[in-house]
Amino acid sequence: MTYSKIIFLRPPGIGKLEVPLGTLYVATAAKNSGYEIEIYDLQFDINEKELIVNSLKENSAGTVLCISALAPHYLWVKEFTKEMKGIFRDLPILVGGHLASAYKELLANTQVDYLCNCEGEKFIDKFMKYLNGMEKEADIPGFIYRENGKIIKNPRGERLKSYLIPDYSLLDMQRYLYHPDKDFFFRSSAEYQKHKTDHDLLSVIMFSRGCTGYCGFCYRHIPGYFQPDINWCVEHLKVLHSQYGVKYFRIDDELFAASYDWVEKFFGRLNEEKLDITFRITGLRVDHATPEMLALLKNNNCIAINYGIESGSQTILDNMNKGTTVEQGLSALLQTRELGMQTMAYVIIGYPGESIETLKETETFLLRSKLPPDYLSIFYAVALPGTKLYHDSVNSGLISDQESYLLETSQIIIGRKNRQSEYYLLLLCGINRDMLQKYEDRMIHLLQILDIFGDGIIIKLFKLIPYGLQGKKFNWLLRRVLRTLKKYL
Ligand code: SF4
Repeated sequence: MTYSKIIFLRPPGIGKLEVPLGTLYVATAAKNSGYEIEIYDLQFDINEKELIVNSLKENSAGTVLCISALAPHYLWVKEFTKEMKGIFRDLPILVGGHLASAYKELLANTQVDYLCNCEGEKFIDKFMKYLNGMEKEADIPGFIYRENGKIIKNPRGERLKSYLIPDYSLLDMQRYLYHPDKDFFFRSSAEYQKHKTDHDLLSVIMFSRGCTGYCGFCYRHIPGYFQPDINWCVEHLKVLHSQYGVKYFRIDDELFAASYDWVEKFFGRLNEEKLDITFRITGLRVDHATPEMLALLKNNNCIAINYGIESGSQTILDNMNKGTTVEQGLSALLQTRELGMQTMAYVIIGYPGESIETLKETETFLLRSKLPPDYLSIFYAVALPGTKLYHDSVNSGLISDQESYLLETSQIIIGRKNRQSEYYLLLLCGINRDMLQKYEDRMIHLLQILDIFGDGIIIKLFKLIPYGLQGKKFNWLLRRVLRTLKKYL
């Protein structure tokens, strides 16, 4: 039998619906190599599962199922692959994406046959050739498979040095393009609101891959950073701009830029091409947010930058291996806002080493930053497979049964547990979960009070309330009262 068709699927998920870019890149490479392609996005519509079954019932011979998944999809993948193999016993199933970090558990406990542990574009053709007897498994970089009952993990090989322009015609793009007013930052941008029209469209786009950092909690499973050729970036933008009429972008790189020169040349080329775009950036390390970089971004229509601040305590930043300082974080937030761009600060609490003292340091940091409360996102430290935090938790015995842990983390995806369970999975520091929640509430309240009343007597009085004294009901009520006050004051 010759394998000539690939069904790509993105599992159901939580959060915003975006173009399944990872899947699209691999599908584009597979199409260019001559394979027949179908893409299903269960995050967009869970009922597309029936379409996959129907497609396979029509003809499963010569077809491969390729799932791009994150660690919290473990349980879904386990159940789905069991169901598929129950109907289509000989269907080869390949899994790629971050979930491949849990390869031992996947190959031991699920119906997944193969894993891709590298960039899928360089892998997919070799993998299909392997299935067709034209390539040896040992010669495929990033391939993970079973051999005589043993799991073999091939080295990844080098990162890609150039990327394909994704073939957006493989998707129904109308699903993924939306009006910028549906995006909090564009909706809140006075500049955008002045010029908006009913026909505006926003899309997600990605240029670079990876990051220069090595934070202990970060789930990037392919190490290193690659900033692509500027011509490729411009051509990629042009496809969305000229073929789909998109002028507004959310640049979703984990690290948009590691060098000022690159950014300067990039905008130089955009201006030469007269490409008029407005954008926001979801990832810029605070140590790259120099005054020159920020001014350059602002002058080229950037409306907002999200920063992984993580903590206002240098002890915790060092524990995380963040490689930045508290002052760099503060300066990035203040300078970005001074220039008229919005900033979102992501903060993680409950990381190993967190104490009452470090939480107070983060509180002080947030007050110094004068961050509007809607621009703060607090997460609880979670140990995801492939991260240092995960390895440390396994080594210390905190995670004793890795499969049970993965099953537990993924309950939320299929709606069997509420979102709080995700946060509360593992206690990684010496502060209990209820107390962490109280600190989270307190940080938000303080920013709300600062926002409404300024740095006066009210915030001084609120600070006198002993830490952790407020109960859940009090916090809930206070948040509502402050939101209402904000509306009318
Ligand atoms: S700076 Fe951000 S993307 Fe880079 S390693 Fe740290 S958390 Fe990950």
